[in-house]
Amino acid sequence: MKVIEHLNEAKSTLFSFEILPPLKGKSIQSIYDGIDPLMEFKPKFINVTYHREEYIYKERDNGLLEKIAIRKRPGTVGICAAIMNKYYVDAVPHLICGGFSKEETENALIDLQFLGIDNVLALRGDSIKTESAFKPHTEGHAHAVDLIDQIMSMNSGNYMTEEYQLEPTNFCIGTAGYPEKHFEAMNLSTDLMYLKRKVDAGASYVVTQMFFDNKKYFEFVDACRAIGITVPIIPGLKPIKTLAHASFLPKFFHVDFPEDLSKELIKCKDNKAAEQVGIEWGIHQSKELKQANVPCIHYYTMSTSSSVKAIAREVF
Ligand code: FAD
Repeated sequence: MKVIEHLNEAKSTLFSFEILPPLKGKSIQSIYDGIDPLMEFKPKFINVTYHREEYIYKERDNGLLEKIAIRKRPGTVGICAAIMNKYYVDAVPHLICGGFSKEETENALIDLQFLGIDNVLALRGDSIKTESAFKPHTEGHAHAVDLIDQIMSMNSGNYMTEEYQLEPTNFCIGTAGYPEKHFEAMNLSTDLMYLKRKVDAGASYVVTQMFFDNKKYFEFVDACRAIGITVPIIPGLKPIKTLAHASFLPKFFHVDFPEDLSKELIKCKDNKAAEQVGIEWGIHQSKELKQANVPCIHYYTMSTSSSVKAIAREVF
């Protein structure tokens, strides 16, 4: 079933979450161990992130450095198929522009269709560590909107290389939104304008970047509605789990912590205390969002489910 159908059918706020594929070499059991504790909250869909290649330099015997591409977390599509098979819950693979030619994208979508996966979260992806800015594949897409266009073309039966129409795919497409602005955007207005383009191109719903201040989400939704973005906007929440998150999350995801939260984190002496603050803050945010009747709350587990479980127990 499509995410948009779940959202349209829902009588109250839905619960969903996102997982990362395990590091290469770990078994699928590590994924199940993260999902099992959250099944009691009846997720309607589970997202699986996509991680592109990274480049490392290896010194050869002759002293020269060799640039090698490695993917540390492969397996997005296989994990989605395994989730649907084991839990009978819809899986939403993330599909990115980075590293993909249009043809590779088309083939990836054909694989998904054969597996019965008809949801996809269409993203641009970030630059790889060795690049200062995002560089699209020479035969690929520069922005998520172009990827959405390609998926919508396939949904109309127009594939890349064929002159004639083929069997249409039937993907429900989600897209990313940033209550605190995407870090590359000139300002929130231009970012919203491009978000509207993604929705006009065919995205059926938006999932937000994590935020720690609900006010930012509510203002973002109002700003979206004001420019005619009418699709559901799913808030994304990330429970803080360690002391290091206090600097890592703002730096990596370009989000601010509200003062009340930062005051509590400053008092923490160890990770256990920080985790507890994260849980309490997550409960507070989730209860307020649920009260406001948001369509769904989407939790970023980053592969550890204990905090999300503690929050969900109080909220769902
Ligand atoms: P875009 O919509 O292309 O936007 C990127 C920037 O370009 C923005 O500043 C926007 O304002 C601007 N822009 C957009 N369209 C245009 C245009 N047509 N012309 C000019 N400028 C434009 N990354 C991963 O690698 N794997 C994942 O699994 C993953 N999952 C994510 C899930 C969620 C819910 C979110 C919020 C992010 C996720 N990301 C993931 C990170 C995401 O790939 C990055 O934030 C990336 O930098 C932007 O992706 P986007 O799809 O928002 O890009």
